[in-house]
Amino acid sequence: MLIVANWKAYVETKEKAKELFALSKRLSTAIKRVRIILLPPAPFLAFLAQGNRTKISFGAQDISMTTIGASTGEVSGTMLKQSGATYVLIGHSERRALGETNDTVQQKVRRALSVGLTPIICVGEKERDHDAQYLSYIKEQIQAVFEPLTVPERLKVVIAYEPVWAIGKSAGDALPEREVGEMVLYIRKIIGHYLLGKSAQKIPILYGGSVEPENIRGLAGGAHVDGFLIGHASVQKDMFRETVRALV
Ligand code: 13P
Repeated sequence: MLIVANWKAYVETKEKAKELFALSKRLSTAIKRVRIILLPPAPFLAFLAQGNRTKISFGAQDISMTTIGASTGEVSGTMLKQSGATYVLIGHSERRALGETNDTVQQKVRRALSVGLTPIICVGEKERDHDAQYLSYIKEQIQAVFEPLTVPERLKVVIAYEPVWAIGKSAGDALPEREVGEMVLYIRKIIGHYLLGKSAQKIPILYGGSVEPENIRGLAGGAHVDGFLIGHASVQKDMFRETVRALV
């Protein structure tokens, strides 16, 4: 079970970053079925990840569309890789809200793959309408990424389904496990158009949006997910410990 901890901008000090890393190491040693991937803010990535010999993996929360050159303020894939990242989150709704389009996301996925980073691609509807138009919205988000990639490239991505309206609330506001399960099957069906035979099953699909100690076990049991993308519950030590321990 993958646990991807998206620290967003919640973690502002090295001390807090170190504490959360130490806790993650203890949890991943104690709970064998869990693989933890930490996504710290970019300035803390190298500090935590360089020389890392633990079971924890690291990733970035975003990647630049640019490569080397005159691009003030940009953080390129090569820089992330050199800083110790092996994963990168792409197309999170909080970045899409700042203007990222499906096309931007696609270009960023290409950048990530070109330097050997595994993209964790976020998809999810802003709201649920009665006519189920949100299903087409998600399909377009996935198609935009998969269509231009080669089959071996398609097999290197991770999908995170995060209904935007369920982000940053509490366990009771998350999508119920049956509906998460339906969405995972729907996403697998879309991916199935781009991959041969059973290989669509190999793409990990995560759920994110108000995952907390109270709902993670139910979601893990009944929703066909391969793991979780966790925001606020990953940056409070007690809550993160309880969330991961709830899987045992
Ligand atoms: P919360 O877990 O705070 O709802 O955030 C989800 C998320 O956006 C993770 O990327």
